[in-house]
Amino acid sequence: MRTKIVAGNWKMNKTFEEADTLIYDILDLLEERGKPEEVDVIICPPFIYLELAGDITEDSPVFVGAQNVSEYESGAYTGEISAPMLRSMHIDFAIIGHSERRKYFSETDDELLAKAKTALKHDIAPIFCCGELLEEREAGKHFKIVKQQLEQTIFKLDAEDFARVIIAYEPVWAIGTGVNATSEQAQEMHFYIRELVWQKYGAEVAAEITILYGGSCNAKNAKELFSMPDVDGGLIGGASLKAEEFVQIILAAGE
Ligand code: PEP
Repeated sequence: MRTKIVAGNWKMNKTFEEADTLIYDILDLLEERGKPEEVDVIICPPFIYLELAGDITEDSPVFVGAQNVSEYESGAYTGEISAPMLRSMHIDFAIIGHSERRKYFSETDDELLAKAKTALKHDIAPIFCCGELLEEREAGKHFKIVKQQLEQTIFKLDAEDFARVIIAYEPVWAIGTGVNATSEQAQEMHFYIRELVWQKYGAEVAAEITILYGGSCNAKNAKELFSMPDVDGGLIGGASLKAEEFVQIILAAGE
């Protein structure tokens, strides 16, 4: 059985006090309502709150992830955070290849592959994002684009490393827009991705790989999206900033 995951990408949001409150609220609500055993929960706050998040969640079932990681291991790279630094803070996951990083910070496929390799080398599981733009979907190119994104990045990993990756399908037109992919659209892309994984790495890896959906997933649509056979949970942006809504999404993944 593959792992179901609900991960919260806080992006560049929350002050220190707000972050502290949000983490405690999530933990309190999970305790009150009961975290579904089969769902792993990850919160990805901004780097400067990772220590805080690690301390608060230490004795809880919630994992902490980073929103990015450098492709370099150390050295003169001002402003960057490396995989060994994250590992030393007990961080187990890092989002890599988010469309906002591709768009605003011009991250290339080669850099994303290097980031994934460095993360894996230091025992950090990449939550690797892929997904097409609106014009690409409208032109009927969405399968081709996602295939290319995977082939030029994580499909270059060996099977052992690849098996530790979590894939997040995030159609760019759905991120932060309030327009989510329908459950059918998500399912057909997740099925397609799993088929590509099967062709490249074989049936066992394809059956075990976790593929998350991301893009305007919220408490209202999560249950329907997560009910699809190839949707193994979600990468949640805006809705992960509110404890009640985030916990409702986690509970939906366990239904
Ligand atoms: C994201 O940023 O990964 C995301 C899915 O955002 P939102 O849920 O706000 O669309």
